[in-house]
Amino acid sequence: MNEFQNLGLDEPILQAVNDLGFTKPSEVQAKCIPVLLESETDLVALAQTGTGKTAAFGFPLIQKISEESRTTQAVILSPTRELCLQITNEMKAYSKYVKGLNIVAVYGGASITEQSRQLKKGAQIVVATPGRIKDMISRRLVDITRVDYCILDEADEMLNMGFYEDIKDILSGTPKEKSTWLFSATMPKTVAQIAKKFMHQPVEITVGQRNIGATTVMHEYYTVSGRDRYPALKRLADANPDIFSVVFCRTKRDTQRVAEKLIEDGYNAGALHGDLSQNQRDLVMGAFRKNQIQMLVATDVAARGIDVDDITHVINYQLPDEIETYTHRSGRTGRAGKSGVSMVILTRSELRRVSAIEKKIGQKFVAKKLPDGMEICEIQLYHLASKIKSTEIDEAISPYLPAIYDVLQGLDRETIIQKMVAVEFSRFHAYYSKSKDLNTTGEAPNGDKNSARFFINIGERDGYDWKSLKDFLKEALDLDRDAIFRVDVKDSFSFFNTDDSLKEKVTEVFSNYKSGGRTINAEIASSPDSSGRRKKRSKGGKTKSDPHKKRGASSRSKKGKGHRGKRRSGYF
Ligand code: ADP
Ligand code: MG
Repeated sequence: MNEFQNLGLDEPILQAVNDLGFTKPSEVQAKCIPVLLESETDLVALAQTGTGKTAAFGFPLIQKISEESRTTQAVILSPTRELCLQITNEMKAYSKYVKGLNIVAVYGGASITEQSRQLKKGAQIVVATPGRIKDMISRRLVDITRVDYCILDEADEMLNMGFYEDIKDILSGTPKEKSTWLFSATMPKTVAQIAKKFMHQPVEITVGQRNIGATTVMHEYYTVSGRDRYPALKRLADANPDIFSVVFCRTKRDTQRVAEKLIEDGYNAGALHGDLSQNQRDLVMGAFRKNQIQMLVATDVAARGIDVDDITHVINYQLPDEIETYTHRSGRTGRAGKSGVSMVILTRSELRRVSAIEKKIGQKFVAKKLPDGMEICEIQLYHLASKIKSTEIDEAISPYLPAIYDVLQGLDRETIIQKMVAVEFSRFHAYYSKSKDLNTTGEAPNGDKNSARFFINIGERDGYDWKSLKDFLKEALDLDRDAIFRVDVKDSFSFFNTDDSLKEKVTEVFSNYKSGGRTINAEIASSPDSSGRRKKRSKGGKTKSDPHKKRGASSRSKKGKGHRGKRRSGYF
């Protein structure tokens, strides 16, 4: 028996439930639906993303609306256009057996004329983003003066996005006796404020932290040196051939850059951020929904509207500044009872932030190692074999088969298999056979094991301390701060360490390095003539890259700006 039958829902909704394949109400549904059906009450429900909140308010709302009347009886507010459309579609699916019910979506970035044309036909339920509906109310294109129900969905996100004033204005234009239902993943002060100001003794329902969404997400981190973030991302993708993921970056610039690199490297990737037009974003989201994009690289704000259930992995290319944001990110996977993985690529210096996040999510991270090249080759081989096995044979190829049989004649089964696999495998093998171990250990950064110590002919006298020298080296070598350690500044010279593997790069960059007419020279510290060619350094002037560094100049200038101090300027 379908457990939805015990909640007091009418036949048309139960029939839709059946079509949707829902067999068991989620916790928030089991708690909200009977209360909302039985009484006219205000309600505050706290439950994480993916717990089925839409049906928790949608089912009772559909049942309580009168289809005979054409006046607008309910307004549902939601933070983004994407969520607005998602709710509208869900509500339409829930009410497909309810004749005469009209649900209209109202959101920015689309024709207001078309939306008001739909409203004129009489919409009992309007699903809206706050900005657009406020605009339409003031132009008298929507009438909310007779609504019985007002639903605030994802209230915390709406308030995060600065819709407080709009929501206040909208609510104050609705009748006092209506019921207000507020749904939110979290209860920050601003949400409590709205509840206090606009609701009367609301029933409070809280669904525990550990709901179908949260418990099924596994949290993992991978420690790498900052300059290896991108190769690490590639390995994570290659080690999970069926990945369907959102990759979160902190800035629009990084988002665009990482997406472009992935595309260049042959992945099905796309970028989603605020510098794209609505049309571009729609195209990307459309392709993602159809699984044509496997890796969607996104900023936090742009990803708010992502409403896709089957996301297998969330990848934190960088950790967000706010811990709260991490929970939003990881909430994009493990939805609707499916399991998911939230992966974090970190540098050693970021390790200390992990425990704060663990506290917040009430779950431990697993420290994982990036697979090495050979492991990835192995994974890809097995993946290829199973793909071959499960591939359905398209009728359309039959005309070509005789000729192909001819070509392959004389090869036995084993040989054909070997050759077929080798064709695919050689690609990965070529890339990974020369690959190195990207993992950095959790040890203190000055662990001397595979590191090289350098001498450099600038020091305190040139105005450097260890921090500013580290910054200078980071820029000059196009490395992350973490890649340079044990910086020891003396009067007219200094020492620093890098990973042993960077020995050649450092030597090369500083073999002919000029800054404002001054030659800056660095070499392996044990070298006998290390105290040789010291000259004075003149101040100022941008550092120039060595011409034979292939990707130096452009990637450095991009990177250098994005890092320090200005992070926020790149936000959505
Ligand atoms: P939330 O708003 O809490 O993030 P949604 O309402 O968007 O969650 O639901 C997430 C997904 O779970 C949707 O695809 C929805 O169709 C599905 N879903 C909702 N309730 C159930 C249920 N009782 N059984 C199975 N799937 C459900
Ligand atoms: Mg929702």
